[in-house]
Amino acid sequence: MNPNDPTATGDVDLASLFAAPHDTTLNAAGAVAPPVYQSSLFTFDSYQAFQSRISGGSQQAIYSRVDNPTVRAFERLMCQAENAAASAAFASGMGAVAAVVFGLLRPGQRLACVEHVYPDAYRLFERLLRPFGVEVSYHPVAAFADPELLRGVSLVYLESPTSITFETVDLAKVAANARCHGALTVIDNSWATPLFQQPLALGIDLVLHSASKYISGHSDTVAGVVSGRAEPMAKIIDLSVPLLGAKLAPFDAWLLIRGLRTLDARMRVHQATAGLFVERLNAHPLVCRVNAPGPDNTPELRGRSGLLSAVLAPEVDVARLCDALKVFKLGVSWGGFESLILPVRAVLTQAGEHNSLQRFGADPQLVRLSLGLENPEHLWADFDAALNASVV
Ligand SMILES: *Cc1c(COP(=O)(O)O)cnc(C)c1O
Repeated sequence: MNPNDPTATGDVDLASLFAAPHDTTLNAAGAVAPPVYQSSLFTFDSYQAFQSRISGGSQQAIYSRVDNPTVRAFERLMCQAENAAASAAFASGMGAVAAVVFGLLRPGQRLACVEHVYPDAYRLFERLLRPFGVEVSYHPVAAFADPELLRGVSLVYLESPTSITFETVDLAKVAANARCHGALTVIDNSWATPLFQQPLALGIDLVLHSASKYISGHSDTVAGVVSGRAEPMAKIIDLSVPLLGAKLAPFDAWLLIRGLRTLDARMRVHQATAGLFVERLNAHPLVCRVNAPGPDNTPELRGRSGLLSAVLAPEVDVARLCDALKVFKLGVSWGGFESLILPVRAVLTQAGEHNSLQRFGADPQLVRLSLGLENPEHLWADFDAALNASVV
């Protein structure tokens, strides 16, 4: 793949995922889209068949909190996309994060995490994991290059690029350092999707996504998924899936399978629009800094997604900018059709306990843009006009 080609995506061939061997339960009557198995339970033909399932001798679906054929179809596609031994899908990205940390960590063990981690992951670690007895430490991305950092650590929690600030980590190096100390590694790969970053190939043990973002692609479902090496996945599947109870629902799995079919096409558009914005933001007199990782500055990345942030000049009134935008909408989340702005100034006022941006700092002039699938010139015209109109 040519990293300079703005329309190129990685070398994961999504079409080949869907050409996988014919599954008669999922492709009955030649259907190209699988049926939604909207059933809570699955019955057995005989005592013997039931007992075999209970004792682990068969894999037949039994109850949808544990396993459902439509959900299994999505998990199988994710396994192929990530080149993983196993996948487990959850009712949200946070369900996936909780399944990893509570499935793998025990009181007295230590989690090492990047500083600008997804704000709700930070709150999970501080409000639930720490009282559970797990020690949690946070480090700037550059600190992970030090092999001594991970001494005594059981799990390394990475996000690369990090949320909102979009700093990146040398994944192969961290994976090697962690292995030296017997620590497992997990990365939140929502930003890159399996198309633009393949962490398992770099030695990372587990990769998770908020599938609410690019994998769904249409801002119409909340979902999560974890994939990775057989051993840690077995713990997550045996403990977290049945006991934490955040399994993905069948209809949501169906939406995600639909999302995967268009992921490659959508990411090409996000990438092209982001390329246009990076160039013009960098040249704009009212923009001080652009945080936009891509293959040009980050060797792990095979593409640039549509999520980036920019520090605006001090004379820009961020509230006025948000209110002046007509095509961009103001909102959390990202990865769908519609373009969104997230003003960090407002996130810094979150009530209650601190989130990761409040704890580790972020410039109040920082805004995050999720560049959607609208006409890129209309998007730029909207942003440029609103920015110029918001100087005070
Ligand atoms: C949204 C998000 C999550 C949480 O996912 P949900 O599906 O909202 O639970 C985790 N990580 C990142 C980077 C996110 O953007």
